[in-house]
Amino acid sequence: MGEHLSRTIAEGRAFMQLVGGQKVDSLTGQRIDVVCPSDGKVFASIPASGEGDVDLAVRAARRAFDEGPWARMPAVERGRLLTKLGLLVEKNATELAALESRDTGKPVRQGRADVNATKRYYEFYGGAADKIHGDTIPFLDGYTALTLREPHGVVAGIIPWNYPLQILARVAGAALAMGNTLVVKPAEDASLSTIRIAELALEAGFPQGVFNVVTGYGRDAGAALSAHPLVDYVTFTGSPATGAAIQKAAAGNNRGVTMELGGKSPQIVFADADIDLALPVLVNAIIQNGGQTCSAGSRVLVERAVYEDVANGLAERFSELVAGAHDADLDLGALINPRQRQRVAAMVSDAEDAGCEILARGSIHADAPEGGFYYEPALIAAKDPKLAIAQEEVFGPVLILLAFDDEADALQIANGTEYGLVAGIWTRDGARQHRVAKRVRAGQIFVNAYGAGGGIELPFGGFRKSGHGREKGFEALYDMSATKTIVFNHG
Ligand code: ADP
Repeated sequence: MGEHLSRTIAEGRAFMQLVGGQKVDSLTGQRIDVVCPSDGKVFASIPASGEGDVDLAVRAARRAFDEGPWARMPAVERGRLLTKLGLLVEKNATELAALESRDTGKPVRQGRADVNATKRYYEFYGGAADKIHGDTIPFLDGYTALTLREPHGVVAGIIPWNYPLQILARVAGAALAMGNTLVVKPAEDASLSTIRIAELALEAGFPQGVFNVVTGYGRDAGAALSAHPLVDYVTFTGSPATGAAIQKAAAGNNRGVTMELGGKSPQIVFADADIDLALPVLVNAIIQNGGQTCSAGSRVLVERAVYEDVANGLAERFSELVAGAHDADLDLGALINPRQRQRVAAMVSDAEDAGCEILARGSIHADAPEGGFYYEPALIAAKDPKLAIAQEEVFGPVLILLAFDDEADALQIANGTEYGLVAGIWTRDGARQHRVAKRVRAGQIFVNAYGAGGGIELPFGGFRKSGHGREKGFEALYDMSATKTIVFNHG
């Protein structure tokens, strides 16, 4: 693999989707251009599928679930296939990282980290497949009651563009480990790695129809998939508005859903914190993946006594951040598309209009290609936690700084948005660590650490607008299955 692979990979390739084990185009033959965010140029294409394509894929998954060898395959065999897929991810790591980086604009370093995490997901769920089981329940005299964990059936996975490899892996790993079959609709802006993983799944030996991929726009393929009556369960990661549309569609069939809908995650820095330890983590938690991370630490709440120190430390680091092409491997890449860049820029200029001060800005490297969707990282002091910039998810490299007076004030600000995905707590006071961890409303809490996007083993998911259901770790296996209770009367 050459050094410039991430600049040339998939050049001119017309990608096909995977339905019932076959590489196929969309029924209409219509295609979507694949654009590299680093230079705004088209380098490949994917099928633009609609309702008919989705119907074929769902029917293939349905058949594979109802009739295929998959349903009768022992859990250990399903696990072995997932483990094998993990090994194939490792074998193709360089290519997958290059593909993911070119498709999303993320630095190749981040692409490699995503590939490592992807391998870990398939490894984890490969190992977990035969280690989840039901219970026997003390019941009436003369009866034995037990539970089985059964797959839902056909799972639809609607995947966003920020971490396609990883988010596909957490969905597919858990869904397939439990014996479901899968139809995946990756984001129109980032479908390539999903197509490659489905190809690798075929190579690993998954039976035909178990792992299907349909590409296309959300309003066409995504909407048709979430409303399809032969789908048994829908899992989605993305924006709250799209999540609501998908839940409505699934509700039309009364199907269950898992929703991971982003956040406005606080990092709370108390005056007794180890500030030197915290500073690089605070910066990375928002800059990783250009801030396009559901679990980004996008608000830093600082106790007044150390506010100036933390603000200065962050400003120094922010002014040194540089954005550039994915293969230049700088602090951050381009944002995913012009619409996203425009959205981020508008939110920041609205914040300025509302009186917020920009404390520091990063820069765009002089060699960054023309036409790329770059945005200079911004550190913003928000006087009022109720301002839109301090309440709404920006999904870009924009960090909001807020001051607080005491623990009660910190908790009020931390819990004062509609979101509740992740939080970071920085303090050396052990009692406070426990107290605040219990009182912050978020699905994941880090103490003197922060794990934006990380932690295959760690259950992950939100409260309120951040969604419901849990992914990652063993918990995802419960979401991806249903309990069946069986009662025997043996007298
Ligand atoms: P963005 O607004 O940045 O595209 P979304 O949350 O809308 O982010 O997209 C995440 C995923 O949801 C993508 O795969 C997208 O195609 C899909 N999607 C968008 N709209 C719909 C919809 N109405 N129904 C189903 N899926 C959708």
